[in-house]
Amino acid sequence: MALFTTDSIERVRDAVDMVELVGSKTDLRRVGSRLTGLCPFHDERTPSFSVDPERKLYHCFGCGVGGDAIRFVQETEALDFPDAVESLADRYGVRLEREEDDPAAERRRRRRERLHALLERAAGFYTTYLWESREAERARAYLAGRGLSEQITREFRVGYTPSAWDRMVVAAQQSGFTPEELVAAGLAQRGRGGGLYDRFRGRIMFPLADARGRVLGFGARAMADGRGPKYLNTSENELYHKGRQLFGIDLARGHAAKTGRIVVVEGYTDVLALHQAGIRESVAIMGTALTQEQLAELGRSAPLVVLALDADRSGQEAMLRAARAAEDRGTQLRVAELVDGKDPADAVTSGGVAAFEKHLERAMSVVEFQVRRVLADADLDTPAGRDRALEEARKLIGAVPERSATRDALVGEVADRLDLPADYVTAAPAVSERESARPDAPPRLLSASPGEAAFAAERAFLVMCLASGELGREYLGRLSDGHLSLPATRRAREHLLAHFDDPLAELSEDDPALAALVTGVAVEGQEQPEATEPALQLDFLQLEQRRIEREIRRAETESDLALVRRLAGAKQDVRREMDTVMGRTA
Ligand SMILES: [Zn+2]
Repeated sequence: MALFTTDSIERVRDAVDMVELVGSKTDLRRVGSRLTGLCPFHDERTPSFSVDPERKLYHCFGCGVGGDAIRFVQETEALDFPDAVESLADRYGVRLEREEDDPAAERRRRRRERLHALLERAAGFYTTYLWESREAERARAYLAGRGLSEQITREFRVGYTPSAWDRMVVAAQQSGFTPEELVAAGLAQRGRGGGLYDRFRGRIMFPLADARGRVLGFGARAMADGRGPKYLNTSENELYHKGRQLFGIDLARGHAAKTGRIVVVEGYTDVLALHQAGIRESVAIMGTALTQEQLAELGRSAPLVVLALDADRSGQEAMLRAARAAEDRGTQLRVAELVDGKDPADAVTSGGVAAFEKHLERAMSVVEFQVRRVLADADLDTPAGRDRALEEARKLIGAVPERSATRDALVGEVADRLDLPADYVTAAPAVSERESARPDAPPRLLSASPGEAAFAAERAFLVMCLASGELGREYLGRLSDGHLSLPATRRAREHLLAHFDDPLAELSEDDPALAALVTGVAVEGQEQPEATEPALQLDFLQLEQRRIEREIRRAETESDLALVRRLAGAKQDVRREMDTVMGRTA
């Protein structure tokens, strides 16, 4: 399927009656030039959802969603871009034209479509086999034994694959798929003799889908002993990338947007159990360490990410790295400690959903979590053991902002547990400054969330620029990547510079985070009065100051003292300049 021409997409946008379209999902009331109503994307009692009927845009000041009519249909009806365009074209009577584009791209798209179709068929085949074959009886018993209903199992399209060598290979080839396609989709392998056989045999199959619900691969659990590893996944291929995958994201995403939270667990059946218990904003990372890509996807789904993972040592290291990356993106990361080493599935089954929910609500910041681990592992019987724990705890607490309730609470806890005076805990750690500033030192406390503050300041400046005509354009042009701490605001700056007069033009549907940010900025920019030059100047200088501060921190990390001194001088200059501007405006 080729893409629609830009022209026909524009005609669809023109034809849409935004009030009628959005009005079918939520009641709208006119307030000035806009219409407002309760947001269809999150639960709320007072309307923070706003529609601009002229420019045909929507934006929620509560949860931050926003976009045009096509985006609205994508989100409310869970359609991908082409399907949303088609549905709108149908609804408003627009004839769509398809683009004839280059044959190589067309071939690639065809191939991907075939692989997707093959994987869908495979998922269907496995599901039927699970529910209808005798061979799968043990698998059905296993799933039931884990307390999982047929309904939830079917919703996740769990299946079973025959133990014979080539059932999938034969069935797929009969349906017209080639051996090469079977291998490319990760369903078949070539033996030493060149023969083709099924990669998965005698296993419970969990389809791994992307956010849109398209199957990309499978996670497979062995039912018989001694037949390879207990868990076997699709290996990396042109569609499936392990580090990108979040099991259940297609079903969890909508709920995560509503609740503002996404829960990350380890196993497939944990996800099924949580969804069945009503905690539908749950996904799994399937035993791997959390990757940046997964974290980005999680951050796009909800502002709060709660990790309910096995808290072993390696897991902790991964968590620390994740925490640091999350902070950079303005996402909050919390850790829910698993009670008595029970996995989430056991916990909801035995303790009930209310107890598990409480447990999630009590999730702590990564630093708190780590300090508690140190205390739990400490050898309290010997002075040397207590000193070691004290040392480690001090290092961790040293990264928590001073004069904060969290810090006080942690200090109290450590002092209590080690039976030492509190000032032993607050005393400067016996490590050198240099060591504590190393990149692998613990992250700052997440609750302070410097990432969020930076994001708010950067976003506010973009709004101000957009509201301020030519002067705003000029100031936007002065911003460099260095002024913006987040990839999202950097992309937004780039987009706004290129489309200053029509910020919503050419927003790619592949980047929903950018689309939401730009739409919000555009809507607010239109409602804000033009800023005066001193106001723009002052806000720009504040970003400049933050930029220099970030560089200073980096230089300190690298122990480049000469650079630190130079940057400190530059920061002074900026402060003086700010004073001058303020003097002028006062
Ligand atoms: Zn909302």
